[in-house]
Amino acid sequence: MNQPSKKASVIVIFGATGDLAKRKLFPSLYNLYCKGELEEDFAVVGVARRKLSNEEFRSRVHDAVIDTACMDKDDKHKQFSDHFFYQPFDVTKSESYQDLKALTESLDTEFNIPGNRIFYMAMAPEFFGTIALNLDAEGLIEGDGWNRLVIEKPFGHNFSSAQKLNDEIRQVFSEDEIYRIDHYLGKEMVQNIEAIRFANALFEPLWNNRYISNIQITSSETVGVENRGGYYEKSGALRDMVQNHMLQMVSLLAMEPPASLSTEEIRSEKVKVLRALRAVIPEEVSKYFVRGQYDAGEVNGTHLQGYREEENVDEASNTETFVGAKLMIDNFRWAGVPFYIRTGKRMTSKSTKIVIEFKDMPMNLYKEQSGKLGPNLLVIHIQPEEGMTLHLNAKDTGDMRKTTPIQLNFNNKQENYINSPEAYERLLHDVMRGDATNFTRWDEVALSWKFIDPISIAWANEKEPTFPNYASGLMGPQASDDLLEKDGFHWWPLPENK
Ligand code: NAP
Repeated sequence: MNQPSKKASVIVIFGATGDLAKRKLFPSLYNLYCKGELEEDFAVVGVARRKLSNEEFRSRVHDAVIDTACMDKDDKHKQFSDHFFYQPFDVTKSESYQDLKALTESLDTEFNIPGNRIFYMAMAPEFFGTIALNLDAEGLIEGDGWNRLVIEKPFGHNFSSAQKLNDEIRQVFSEDEIYRIDHYLGKEMVQNIEAIRFANALFEPLWNNRYISNIQITSSETVGVENRGGYYEKSGALRDMVQNHMLQMVSLLAMEPPASLSTEEIRSEKVKVLRALRAVIPEEVSKYFVRGQYDAGEVNGTHLQGYREEENVDEASNTETFVGAKLMIDNFRWAGVPFYIRTGKRMTSKSTKIVIEFKDMPMNLYKEQSGKLGPNLLVIHIQPEEGMTLHLNAKDTGDMRKTTPIQLNFNNKQENYINSPEAYERLLHDVMRGDATNFTRWDEVALSWKFIDPISIAWANEKEPTFPNYASGLMGPQASDDLLEKDGFHWWPLPENK
């Protein structure tokens, strides 16, 4: 028998009949398999309440991966699906765990797996603690191999619920066995932030308050809440997007160069940024934060209803579907540089991008000329385009005293699109390899909730009388533009009519 690979493992997916498993996990596993990143020594056990046979489960997996861009689909798929097994499961019953134990141990033998386990929580968070405690009580994590627990967002809905959840899972798993997913950290261009900063002599010397005037991060969606009104009413954009994805991007942009690219060095530098974030006291929330809720509107000739008309949404809802904010990082590098963030639903376009706006030179000889002179911008396109654009000024071809803005572009899609793995694929592969760099450590989660809690409390206590305050299809409420204008800035790119 061959030596098992380092990634050899039984992957148990709790919630394997759900949306996440179908849309993200199965296609990601299949892509890894097709690319040869997974050897034959793995097995996947799907568990959920409903009763399915292995064959029925494999047929679901087949349907989920049928559209993936994978060569040699038919043959590969048959071999791939032979690694999948299903077990009906009740998370509260010890028999379910005993059956799972017996199944995983038999799969160790069948697939030459040395007892390694990945437990992937693709279920509602209220079950995570119960499952972890039962896995321990029923002896599922006492084998010879390694154990890894993968936890989806939301990791709590405030600091105290996050701490409670963390305490439960920490009774069973050590911090380095826990992989808290923030799928933005799996995105190609988010991972590229470190390379752009720390592999280019051009940028890092300028990456501070002497040369950067402000940084802007926009993550906009065109869709509304769709059929997730019930979930969104309890979450809102602040908890759904800002506490995790937006603050993670801020940390990567603002952190000091780590001593090395190791997991702990990078995460330790990120956490220092969160510690330096200026806390927003409840009385000052409106100075730093803006909230919005979408109204009805016309988008591409289609009439779309407002948030309060959506299914499972209160008709007087106070839930924000948009957040704009000015974050200040009170440390030596960033003192005085605002980090503006905005995120929301039903906005003009679906896009995530970062704009770094550089200060003008102390004396710019071209300033008084009649040509166009723009600030230098570095734009990092996270999605749907992947790449970066550097905005510079060059001589106007006609007049030697005039300048004109030019752009240098790098478009990752053109170069590498076919090979560029999706975020979940990359993150699943990292879990198998035991690389936790692109997962959030508990202290990051704790600090980001502590930062967010006073804002969500203030907003819950005070209804926003102007809601709904932006029409579907706009980039949020006017107050979001005002937030920057007060500081003499504006969101990039400029709206067409400005
Ligand atoms: P979902 O479609 O509602 O699926 C939930 C899964 O849990 C189903 O497989 C369901 O199957 C199973 N389940 C529910 N109650 C159970 C119980 N008592 N015992 C055993 N199984 C049970 O949810 P989802 O969208 O996949 O989301 C799963 C988790 O991922 C959630 O925490 C969510 O917040 C997070 N997440 C999802 C996405 C996404 O894109 N969907 C993105 C980010 C995070 P049965 O009905 O057969 O039991």
